[in-house]
Amino acid sequence: AQNDKDSQYIVSNWAKDHYHKLLLESEEGQSIGLSYLRQRGLNQQTIQTFELGYSLDQWDDLLKAAEKAGYERKYLEKTGLTIKKDDDQGQDTGRRYDRFRGRVMFPIHNVAGRTIGFGARTLKANDKSAKYLNSPESDIYHKSDVLYGMYQARQAIRAEETCYLVEGYLDVLSLHQGGIKNVVASSGTSLTESQIRLIARYTDNVTVLYDGDAAGIRASLRGIDLILEGGLNVRVVLFPDGDDPDSYIRKVGDQRFREHLENHSKDFISFKTDLVAREAAQDPVKKAEAIRDVLQSIAKVPDPIKRQVFLQQTSGTFGIDEQVLITEYNKLVKSAG
Ligand code: ATP
Ligand code: MN
Ligand code: MN
Ligand code: MN
Repeated sequence: AQNDKDSQYIVSNWAKDHYHKLLLESEEGQSIGLSYLRQRGLNQQTIQTFELGYSLDQWDDLLKAAEKAGYERKYLEKTGLTIKKDDDQGQDTGRRYDRFRGRVMFPIHNVAGRTIGFGARTLKANDKSAKYLNSPESDIYHKSDVLYGMYQARQAIRAEETCYLVEGYLDVLSLHQGGIKNVVASSGTSLTESQIRLIARYTDNVTVLYDGDAAGIRASLRGIDLILEGGLNVRVVLFPDGDDPDSYIRKVGDQRFREHLENHSKDFISFKTDLVAREAAQDPVKKAEAIRDVLQSIAKVPDPIKRQVFLQQTSGTFGIDEQVLITEYNKLVKSAG
């Protein structure tokens, strides 16, 4: 019911303020959370803009504070801020504990600016639990519909007519702080159609800036096809292996980072071509596979005129006769049914 959802928004907003206050005002928040964020190069302004926070390293700080403030437990549970404690038989003991403990908190906002969930990073060097924890799905938080940072990025995306897409929270924060404000993150999950539709509300142009490791490259390739299918234009920028946009901008500075974006941004055909060139420049079998792979991507483009242009470009890039390429393309589309 609507009331139920409203209560979930309200308690999420309250929790966001609670974590934010802990970061700035509590002893533990300052000495552990704030000093961590500082060490990662984030300034006061960025911390405010993204309403970052800290959860105390205790089992029930949020629970207790919520109780004191008069919030019902059931909404903490529905938003995943607390976790049910079951006994050995899996029976609910009625007891609850905080999901997020001793972590830096990244509130996730919807485009209206309301807090709908959280990402949370551990500060322990060898934490056995995950580096990042996220709120579970709830009535107000649907992971696959949300892009981290969209609330803070949307005006810049319109103005710049481009959306930069990164993997992580820190990538968004560092780029935003470096003056690149048109940036959002898919937050580790693979990109969805609905996230692409969200971007399409603001621009037709997406530039993918994923991590410069094998996983990042694989994710870029998947992302490219989905973005093309969504009818958007896509470019890709690769970072050196071992770097992500956050580490890279910290390493080279804002100015050189911008230059990197300008000098290394590629359309998807050149991106795929270069990947193959890296692996097997002289191998005709690999090359044929790569060309078919590019054709598969082109087949996803809804606009027939763009498809035509991409086919011409592919023909030029790979040095393959355009008629041969078009024949191959038609075969491929037919067999894909
Ligand atoms: P950091 O720089 O703080 O180490 P990162 O963002 O570079 O973080 P990656 O390992 O590159 O971390 O992961 C990218 C994103 O994927 C994270 O920002 C987070 O949203 C998500 N992610 C990573 N690890 C996990 C995990 N164990 N569980 C859930 N999400 C995760
Ligand atoms: Mn990574
Ligand atoms: Mn990182
Ligand atoms: Mn990363």
